[in-house]
Amino acid sequence: MHIREYQRWLEEWDKARGWDKVLPAHTLIHALEEMGEVARLVLALDGYKQREDIEKVRAELAEELSDLFVFLFKLAYQTGIDVEFALKAGQEKAEARFPDLKEAVEAGEMYRNKLREQVAHLDEHSTAD
Ligand SMILES: [Mg+2]
Repeated sequence: MHIREYQRWLEEWDKARGWDKVLPAHTLIHALEEMGEVARLVLALDGYKQREDIEKVRAELAEELSDLFVFLFKLAYQTGIDVEFALKAGQEKAEARFPDLKEAVEAGEMYRNKLREQVAHLDEHSTAD
């Protein structure tokens, strides 16, 4: 499946049902609702929320990401955006913004070091110990 092909399929699928006749703002609210569902599952994967069956969480996350993409693609066709074209432009932007691989890897390491410092700070100042 190609991105442009999917976007066209979704638009035709919605039009056949009259579901294209909603405000883009309403579509955005649906996307945010799905984003909340994605967030709940990511918190579970990160261990913030306890869940016993991680594979089940991962399957639910795949479903919720799909739901989210539906509304993002819908928002795109409602506003005249070609997602495939926009993503290609985004790729070019990323390549131009981060051309130096070594520098990019170092930025990632700096981020992880900052996380380690923050966790150490939390452990030092924990009132539960
Ligand atoms: Mg959903």
